[in-house]
Amino acid sequence: MTPSETRSTTSSETSTATTSGRTGSEPIADLVVAGARCVATVDAERRELADGWVAITDGLVSGVGTGPPPAATTVLDATDCLVTPGLVNAHHHLYQNLTRANPAMTDQALFGWLQTLYPLWRGLDTESVHVSAWVGLAELALAGCTTSSDHLYLHPKGAGDLLTAEIEAAQDLGVRFHPTRGSMSLSEKDGGLPPDDVVADDDDILSACEEAVTRHHDRSFGAMTRVALAPCSPFSVTEDLMVRTAELADRLDVRLHTHFAENAEDDEFSLATFGCRPMEYLERTGWCTERTWVAHCVMPDDGEIARLGAAGVGVAHCPSSNMILSSGIAPVVELRAAGVHVGLGVDGSSSADAASLWLEARQAMLLAKLRNGAAAGTARMALEMATIGGAGCLGRAGEIGALTVGAVGDVAVWPLTGPSFAGAVADPIEAWLRCGPVAARHTVVHGRPVVRDGRMVSSRVDEMLVAHDRLARRLQAG
Ligand SMILES: [Zn+2]
Repeated sequence: MTPSETRSTTSSETSTATTSGRTGSEPIADLVVAGARCVATVDAERRELADGWVAITDGLVSGVGTGPPPAATTVLDATDCLVTPGLVNAHHHLYQNLTRANPAMTDQALFGWLQTLYPLWRGLDTESVHVSAWVGLAELALAGCTTSSDHLYLHPKGAGDLLTAEIEAAQDLGVRFHPTRGSMSLSEKDGGLPPDDVVADDDDILSACEEAVTRHHDRSFGAMTRVALAPCSPFSVTEDLMVRTAELADRLDVRLHTHFAENAEDDEFSLATFGCRPMEYLERTGWCTERTWVAHCVMPDDGEIARLGAAGVGVAHCPSSNMILSSGIAPVVELRAAGVHVGLGVDGSSSADAASLWLEARQAMLLAKLRNGAAAGTARMALEMATIGGAGCLGRAGEIGALTVGAVGDVAVWPLTGPSFAGAVADPIEAWLRCGPVAARHTVVHGRPVVRDGRMVSSRVDEMLVAHDRLARRLQAG
């Protein structure tokens, strides 16, 4: 945030002044979100504060309360709003927004969808990865997401340093980012799914992983960038690479991520290729640890759910993707009951097409009702998945995903007004997901507004959308 931004006045900013009649002898926060109809802290007691406020200083939450807020340099108005922790996106492929709604794949299930799109994605380069990440992270921020992971598993030969290209996009926007250094090493000629020219040698992949961690991984509290290691899926890497990646993650002390048990094809491939179900494969490759979070987990049986919970594995539930690819309904109620950290992911933009975590939270609530009964899927459960569940997946419980003093100052402010919220006077959290759709009025990351009054703070949106249109047309032309 620049000094001029902190001092500017908008319809939602009251000014550089106290709002409670206090004197200048008291500490002044950098930013306060004030006047909320409700602050849903998602803290250990799940406090919900009527007429609430959140104060942020030096990027961290410095106070949460009700009534008159403390003085602050910047005051963001939250009148008639629900305030939540910034949402955490635990699974995505940002580059895929370059091939959204491509007609050749819209009637395909997972394997056909992948094999339709792999040839187009071969054209990725640093510019297209940078621009697609920028636009995709902006889309997420507009829907209240403050931390996003990204699973970047395509590294075509000669394409350049794609991971750095997307990290620079996140830094430019000011969003918290967990890129994963993905990989593919099992091509069609070896029984895998991807074409030969997008896979790499295991040794080259592992050295690129180590280099990415050395260069970008920030271990400090409140870090804006952390890197994890992420072979694409059991059907696109060798078993040896799975084992060696887990060993490398252990040595470097970073997290592990991959796709897991996404649909029936996934199960069949595992049985035919490895002679076991995906769960056993995860265990025998050294991945069933609390260092791991997996995407999807649609197909586990009861015994496998218990084993996932006992191991402390995280799961990124991607409901829209699971529906659009007709994969199935993940057993998230059972997974949570077993102690699994269940977060939410928008998944790749061309599987789910829309990338709104608000939408995924609503879909997760609705699917849980459909699978487990009306009482099982609540808005509060979905809010937990979108916040502390995602924090658990990323290994950052207590740091992101909750509004408690000392946690990072990541906040989403949701207006509960207009015709779509009329009549929803009794429960702002149920209203948030049962009504709508709703986008964030403000999205604050590390104490800095990224979205303000419903608009991106960055002045580069139009320029980046023009570039994205050019790059998407080029990629889809093949
Ligand atoms: Zn995915």
